[in-house]
Amino acid sequence: MSSNSGSSESPSATVEKSPTILARLARSLKARDWGAAVIEVAIVVIGIFIGLQVDAWNDVRKDRQEESDYLQRLHDDVATLVGMQQQRIETRMERLEDMADAADILIGVAPVTDWSKRHCDALAFSHIYVPLPMALPALDEMLSTGKLSLIRDIPLREALSRLQIQVVRSEEMIARIDGSVRVLSRHYPHAIWESIVPDDESENRRHDTQPACDLEAIRSNPVLLNDVADNYSRYHAYATSGLANTFEHFQQVHDLLDLQLGFSH
Ligand SMILES: [Zn+2]
Repeated sequence: MSSNSGSSESPSATVEKSPTILARLARSLKARDWGAAVIEVAIVVIGIFIGLQVDAWNDVRKDRQEESDYLQRLHDDVATLVGMQQQRIETRMERLEDMADAADILIGVAPVTDWSKRHCDALAFSHIYVPLPMALPALDEMLSTGKLSLIRDIPLREALSRLQIQVVRSEEMIARIDGSVRVLSRHYPHAIWESIVPDDESENRRHDTQPACDLEAIRSNPVLLNDVADNYSRYHAYATSGLANTFEHFQQVHDLLDLQLGFSH
């Protein structure tokens, strides 16, 4: 017995404590003091149980506090992004609408008299695919430290995972769309061009660029029309699958966070 306890791999606290307990128990048993022996055992068992329970309660309380802090940080990140994204989505959707109207005029579905500056702008800027702001520092931290499991709400955890996947897909898609796009004013400057104009609103001496179009030159050039169709289709994928779809995922996460935190706005 003594050689076992001497070479034991148990923590030193246990090694030091066990002989004392055993000695006291042995003394009680030797004296046939059953009552004292039972009390000795009960005190030790209850002591260990309470110690373990206190540790468990402390762990749970720490986890709940950490979960609450992360939920609040996630909410702040997501709410800020949703506000910024909404504004950008609206302008991109308006541009897509202008592009669709321009296409109707180019293919003769709508009259050429409907042609205006917004249609020309839509074609001239049909190569610009800027991603939405999507950085979520709190979520990145949770993923890198393996703390996503602190969130107990399963629908929220699943929505966060789907959002992560969508963010990656959206970035990959926009990079792919952007890869070989045609800048129409660079390839067809006689039909679509950008003029340098003074920026009157700026106090400093600055200039801006202003697109201009020759509608007949666009309509009479089948190669240019093919590139317009190509850019339109890219812009459609960018605005719908790339941006609007991602925005929906952010909104879903925001709604679930509001639910968890009891917010209503
Ligand atoms: Zn909110």
